[in-house]
Amino acid sequence: MNILSYKRLVDALVFFRLFMATTCDVLVVGAGPGGGSAALHASRLGLDVMVIEDHNEIGTPVHCGECISDVAVSNLDLELPIEVISKRVHGIRVIFPDGTKKCLTEKGYVLEKHLFEQWLMEQAVDFGAKFFPDNKLQTMERIEEDGRFVGHLCNGKGDAFPIRARIVIDASGVAGVCSKILELNERPKVIAGMQYEMLEVPTDDYLDFYIWPEYVEKGYLWMIPKCDGRANVGLVTEDKSGAVKELDRFISDMPEFNQLEIVNPPWRDDGRKIRGFGGTIPISGPHKRTHSDGVLLIGDAAGFTSPLFEGGSHLALKSAQFAAITAADAISKNDVSASVLGSYPQKWKSEFPPYEKILRGKSALYSLSEQDMSIMARCFPEEMSNMGVSGKSMVVLRLLLRRPSLFFRRIIPAMLAFGYSRAKHYGW
Ligand SMILES: Cc1cc2nc3c(=O)[nH]c(=O)nc-3n(C[C@H](O)[C@H](O)[C@H](O)COP(=O)(O)OP(=O)(O)OC[C@H]3O[C@@H](n4cnc5c(N)ncnc54)[C@H](O)[C@@H]3O)c2cc1C
Repeated sequence: MNILSYKRLVDALVFFRLFMATTCDVLVVGAGPGGGSAALHASRLGLDVMVIEDHNEIGTPVHCGECISDVAVSNLDLELPIEVISKRVHGIRVIFPDGTKKCLTEKGYVLEKHLFEQWLMEQAVDFGAKFFPDNKLQTMERIEEDGRFVGHLCNGKGDAFPIRARIVIDASGVAGVCSKILELNERPKVIAGMQYEMLEVPTDDYLDFYIWPEYVEKGYLWMIPKCDGRANVGLVTEDKSGAVKELDRFISDMPEFNQLEIVNPPWRDDGRKIRGFGGTIPISGPHKRTHSDGVLLIGDAAGFTSPLFEGGSHLALKSAQFAAITAADAISKNDVSASVLGSYPQKWKSEFPPYEKILRGKSALYSLSEQDMSIMARCFPEEMSNMGVSGKSMVVLRLLLRRPSLFFRRIIPAMLAFGYSRAKHYGW
């Protein structure tokens, strides 16, 4: 076969493969909160949207404490149906090593997160998105026409493939599948999160976050109340292998928990051995590249998590909206190259809080001894959510009186990190 006929054969094969592929404007990879929100917003904007999800059911196994603020819900521009809400909560209460309790009161919800994610996808499907469970993205090939990038040919495990997409929105969570396939970013550093469902847990409807280095050196423990006395009791820790041991020790040391029953969550099949559930959370901050030719990264896949309490649902929901708007704009211009998609990082950078600054606060906080942490906490007002200038000045004054050396040990960044963990700064 001469070179010319060989080239014709290759061209014919490429044409055939593209011809066989299902086409769409936007392929959303992953049906977590980010994927559901991206599909919803993109289909609302009139785009032809496909969503693929590795698992056969949306949202299970749950890998989340399941809390979300009112601010996050209103940012989504939707009314939550009653069946996805487990409990209405007043906000966060931080419990410091000596037991000092300070509140960040901002109303929100504890969800039945898998039902929330399923409902979100139903909304997207109502707007025309097509959903394909049991489909896992594994490869992507660039498609060019007349030397111009026009999309990706996506392949993987599942019946929906091959898929030809003008834009791929990567909502694959910490898996970060597009970053891996296209070698866009290094793998992020992660922290492990793990929790049990417990019954008859006493609550006054606050989310209790324990900053207790005795159990978790760089992380925290939580009790997140749900309906009917249920609660998620868990932790995040950099010590992945010690997570279960430390959580068990915490529960057995706590008189309010140690007599209570641990059960399997309702979404787990009957008869399965009782065990915890969780996952990993990226903690290296936003990825260097959150877009490329025909690709936008959102949510955990983009490294968007709040540094102090590691919440990521709000950031996933909002970055999805930015990605959908960017995709609609690029498709209307008939140019899906990185240069047009470059408006996406501009959008999230102007909206999301300064990651490095909060991270400095977190490091400052974890560098304190338990005693210093508690002294700092006692200088805070009972309610930390609206300190304002006078409140902050009062804290500084108290610090100077009680432990002047603390003031000079980067306590201010630690204090600000709590402020940045509020819902309006995408903390939850
Ligand atoms: C223990 C724990 C507790 C947490 N608690 C909270 C909390 O209370 N509040 C909060 O805001 N955040 C919390 N987080 C973080 C939060 O869960 C995540 O930030 C959020 O779920 C990110 O949403 P996402 O849509 O980006 O990714 P994910 O929710 O991870 O969804 C990604 C989806 O993509 C799918 N997928 C992966 N790879 C592929 C592929 N190749 N092809 C197709 N599909 C694929 C996955 O199956 C998954 O369904 C917690 C995390 C953990 C681990």
